[in-house]
Amino acid sequence: MPPLITVTHRHGIYLPEADLWLDPHFGVKRAFISHAHSDHVARHELTFCSEVTRDLMKTRYGFKNEGEVRALPLRDVIEWEGWELRLLPAGHIIGSAMLHLTRKADGATLLYSGDYKLRQGLSSERCELLHADTLIMECAGAEVGAGDD
Ligand SMILES: [Zn+2]
Repeated sequence: MPPLITVTHRHGIYLPEADLWLDPHFGVKRAFISHAHSDHVARHELTFCSEVTRDLMKTRYGFKNEGEVRALPLRDVIEWEGWELRLLPAGHIIGSAMLHLTRKADGATLLYSGDYKLRQGLSSERCELLHADTLIMECAGAEVGAGDD
């Protein structure tokens, strides 16, 4: 098994090797936003998110051209600075996505769930999981069953 991807937590989840924050509540240089609920949305210099989340941030929160937003299609593998990024449906709300990362140098993987729901919802794609060496799960409240925040 390859060495694990380093994860730190200082007011938010941060991956120092990728210089990437996961759903930070404050503006940072580079971040992944898992979905468009207000407790996950902030303006960053560079944001990765799903295409639907990008559209929701524009319509719901008035995002215009602040920072760069890279909206990734679900399931496609995107190469970025020695990493492979892949968004998977999280089943939480429309557009919600998990982030799967692979460090190309050694194949180490990480899955960040964000808010997710395993049961099929009425307005979101069914959650899809992918193996990872490191799993970061959202565990607040009862999100697994019927969370809506
Ligand atoms: Zn949420």
